[in-house]
Amino acid sequence: MKRIAILGSTGSIGRQALEVIEKYPDRFKVTALAAGSNAKLLEKQINKFRPEVACLYDSEKISLVREIPKETTLYTGENSSLHAFENCDLALIAISGFAGLKPTLYAVKNGIDVALANKEALVVGGEMVIKTAEEKGVNIIPVDSEHSAIFQCLGFDRKKNFKKILITASGGAFRNLTREQISPLKASEALKHPNWNMGKKITIDCATLMNKGLEVIEACRLFGVGLDKVRALMHPESIIHSMVEFDDGAIMAQMGYPSMKVPIALAFTYPERLNVGVESLDLVGRSLNFAEIDGETFPCFGLALKSYEIGGIHPCVLSAANEEAVSLYLRDKIGFYGISDAVEYALGKFNKAEVDEKSLYEVDFEARRLVKERFDI
Ligand code: NDP
Ligand code: MG
Repeated sequence: MKRIAILGSTGSIGRQALEVIEKYPDRFKVTALAAGSNAKLLEKQINKFRPEVACLYDSEKISLVREIPKETTLYTGENSSLHAFENCDLALIAISGFAGLKPTLYAVKNGIDVALANKEALVVGGEMVIKTAEEKGVNIIPVDSEHSAIFQCLGFDRKKNFKKILITASGGAFRNLTREQISPLKASEALKHPNWNMGKKITIDCATLMNKGLEVIEACRLFGVGLDKVRALMHPESIIHSMVEFDDGAIMAQMGYPSMKVPIALAFTYPERLNVGVESLDLVGRSLNFAEIDGETFPCFGLALKSYEIGGIHPCVLSAANEEAVSLYLRDKIGFYGISDAVEYALGKFNKAEVDEKSLYEVDFEARRLVKERFDI
């Protein structure tokens, strides 16, 4: 019986993880559930899975959690999710954005294996997270579909030698449009992702291709390589989730219908694979297409790579400015290209500096402030 803590249980990844767990009650036990502000759903989940610990970030919503089992202790407030790690074998971190950093660092420092869906933690604090995990012997298992695909192509050996990672990109909602066509489109259009159903922030990141930039950085961090060893390719069908090329020219690809349940379940049980209800892929009559990323139309992709080249605090600036700008775009306060504009503006305002845990919180705060300043908000 694997004891699993689910952080971000009320989100898209968290809910799918609970569906996987529900399908295999004899294999998994939920030890903790942590949510942001969806108190009603958290209450339902607590009563269904009866964890030892539940955490609600937004303390103003606590009164909405009325009836919970006696065996569950409920924590609330800013650092409540840090209680989620008691008595677990593995923690799924599916909190979105910068908020995922603190629990990820806390888990690795305390020797807890992590199934990591949150990519921002690796982007902003990746050096610290990976170094601490190595020192503590903690396993960081990728849940992001591309990184899970790469992990699978490497035979679940993150240290295996390879020539290149080929990371695929669906291209998001605006992939077939020109800059002029995209420019006036609102967030409600960008949220219509053609292949995946995900949380709002990541869906906008897919439309700007910031997501692919973050994922290239995530791949560099997870697999210990530089940007020269990772190539991103447009692949609109989202059938190949990513590939690895080896020294002899052989390329391994991981394919299947897009479903996050596959990488979630695999992170729980690898190398064993569970049936999570995904139908067999019929390749007959299908064509798989690949193309270069159009950096003119999608400037966020290049900005992400640039931030990684500069290194130090700059990926944190990128991620923070992007998170703030995406939240403004979601509220129709800025336009689509306001996002890349804000990120570029913020990146230009910081001098190169090394990363430490304290400075990341300050940098995150200042980058968000700069974005609001940029738009007079
Ligand atoms: P959602 O927005 O759907 O869910 C986010 C979850 O995080 C919710 O449960 C939310 O709680 C919770 N949360 C937010 N802030 C806090 C906080 N401060 N403390 C505790 N919980 C918090 O996002 P997704 O599930 O789509 O994505 C989660 C992460 O996984 C992201 O980093 C994303 O990039 C990554 N990812 C997602 C994929 C997907 O298919 N969705 C694919 C690959 C990676 P509440 O709703 O209660 O406020
Ligand atoms: Mg992904």
